[in-house]
Amino acid sequence: MNIVVCVKQTPDTAAIVTVEDGVVSWGDAPVVLNPWDEYAVEEALRIKEAHGGEITAISLGPEDAKEALKQALAMGCDQAILISDPVFAGADTLVVSKILAASIDKIEGTDLVIFGRASVDSDTGVTGPQVARRLGWPALSLVAAISSLDPEGKTIAVERMLDEGRQLVSSPLPAVVSVVKEINEPRYPSFMGIRKASRAEIPLWTAAELGLDEISDPAVMWPDIMAPPKIETEVEMIEGETPEEIAARLVDRLMEEKVI
Ligand SMILES: Cc1cc2nc3c(=O)[nH]c(=O)nc-3n(C[C@H](O)[C@H](O)[C@H](O)COP(=O)(O)OP(=O)(O)OC[C@H]3O[C@@H](n4cnc5c(N)ncnc54)[C@H](O)[C@@H]3O)c2cc1C
Repeated sequence: MNIVVCVKQTPDTAAIVTVEDGVVSWGDAPVVLNPWDEYAVEEALRIKEAHGGEITAISLGPEDAKEALKQALAMGCDQAILISDPVFAGADTLVVSKILAASIDKIEGTDLVIFGRASVDSDTGVTGPQVARRLGWPALSLVAAISSLDPEGKTIAVERMLDEGRQLVSSPLPAVVSVVKEINEPRYPSFMGIRKASRAEIPLWTAAELGLDEISDPAVMWPDIMAPPKIETEVEMIEGETPEEIAARLVDRLMEEKVI
């Protein structure tokens, strides 16, 4: 099974986001592997452990997106490729999906592409299905379990997690899946993995290397970005001599406020 995992570098979720004049800033927050993509990497590793093959992690982004790729390598991916070019700046998901699909085409022999459910910063959740559309491969989204995988017969069956329950879906390979956090528990990188990743050479593919002569302007524009309105909150400490007394007062207060 040859697997490509698409990973994005995102700010740490603990970062305090500010928006000023439509410009978003995460301050000095560290950038990390998009948390949803850790599940994608973990699932690729588990499939490789069961069926063999190679895992390639790819990321489209600036030079520092290499850090996300290094984390994927430290977890156990075999190789990583950074896709970067100044002409990619400001791309929307239509453009990003075109570039990622061209990269997957260039890798050749891919059986399965795995995405996280969404990125924690832009959070559109559409990149995986758009890449599938561009490749002409089936898109299996919100996957909470891979129920069966037959590399010889080239088929996959998955459980999709929906609000109403789970749905069993099957398709031929190659296919594109996006995974939710219920699928697994991502492993911590091993010491050896971290050492290997720190020494790894990560090749860089540009627009020219992908044969993308023309990068279209984004169709989806972001004319403005607003921070959510400030919410005023009051804190009231409920006190009492015993836990029973505190609980009784808390219940009274919640009833007064019509919460219960
Ligand atoms: C400076 C800047 C300007 C932007 N301007 C616009 C704009 O004008 N209009 C607009 O629509 N968007 C804009 N974007 C957003 C950008 O297009 C999205 O970040 C990108 O399309 C991916 O979408 P997403 O982050 O919502 O990913 P999602 O679709 O939420 O991510 C799903 C999964 O796709 C994969 N993935 C996502 N991004 C990448 C990546 N780069 N490399 C590899 N895998 C990836 C990961 O597995 C991820 O879990 C801008 C972003 C930046 C940084």
